[in-house]
Amino acid sequence: MMFYYYFVCQRKLWCFYNNISLEKENENVLLGKILDETSYGRISKHIMLDETINIDFLSNWKVLHEIKKSRSIELASEWQVKYYMYLLRQKDINIEKGVLDYPLLKKRKEVFLLEEDTVKISEIIQDIERIVMTEKMPNPIDSRICKKCAYFEYCYI
Ligand code: SF4
Repeated sequence: MMFYYYFVCQRKLWCFYNNISLEKENENVLLGKILDETSYGRISKHIMLDETINIDFLSNWKVLHEIKKSRSIELASEWQVKYYMYLLRQKDINIEKGVLDYPLLKKRKEVFLLEEDTVKISEIIQDIERIVMTEKMPNPIDSRICKKCAYFEYCYI
């Protein structure tokens, strides 16, 4: 989740790490949960890894799937999937590719973990540690995504 938030908003990342959590109350998060519970019913889902990440589902331990309701923050979703593949590779589980599934849009996008991505992931992990450990939370990003964010009132009102 923190890896995903790194690409969405570093203020959100900071809040999440520092236990300022508003996600349960937000309508969009609830929609995501409902979507998750009603899609792909016949495939086993939610593979927990090290009690830190929750993979939506794996096909034959070769293809990793992440279910999303919209493509609005696709870059963050792509890196989330790359990060999962990176962690699995460290456990000698070599995933061929990731797939972002958008059941409401009837679309999907393939994601691959490239060699240069693994270097970037190590750098991002260090940057995440730096951000969450700073005393002052990052400023609001004033982006169009803020209006749908669970933290909107906290940041702007
Ligand atoms: S409302 Fe905007 S600035 Fe605040 S946490 Fe959400 S995305 Fe970040």
